[in-house]
Amino acid sequence: MTHDPDCIFCKIAAGRIPSKKVYEDEEILVFHDIHPWAPVHFLLIPKQHIPSMAHVEPSHAALLGKMMSLVPALAKQEGCRPYPEGGFRLVCNTGDDGGQEVPHLHFHVIGGPRPWLKG
Ligand code: 5GP
Ligand code: ZN
Repeated sequence: MTHDPDCIFCKIAAGRIPSKKVYEDEEILVFHDIHPWAPVHFLLIPKQHIPSMAHVEPSHAALLGKMMSLVPALAKQEGCRPYPEGGFRLVCNTGDDGGQEVPHLHFHVIGGPRPWLKG
């Protein structure tokens, strides 16, 4: 499995930086975002270092499918209300133009009572 020793999410995946874990298996880690944008905000990452969605290849299909298939149960577990009244956003910022700050593939799950529409 590939790792980047300078990558903050590789360090979190290896347990070298603590995180508030939501889910973990041999290839995936899910943890709370340190600066939540909403009442529910967690991140799904592969434990292997894939820099971004722009680096995803067909060989990653099973891994990404597994990540996506975890989202509904984890969103419910973390407090998102049931569909359709409840729900969440699933966001994957990619590259500089996509607003990606951490160059290790991650999916944000952002939920709660439509916090992104308030203000
Ligand atoms: P991006 O802009 O790359 O899509 O989002 C990166 C996210 O990672 C941000 O929402 C940021 O708050 C979160 N983040 C950055 N560093 C850490 C960290 O050390 N721990 C946790 N839990 N989240 C982090
Ligand atoms: Zn990494």
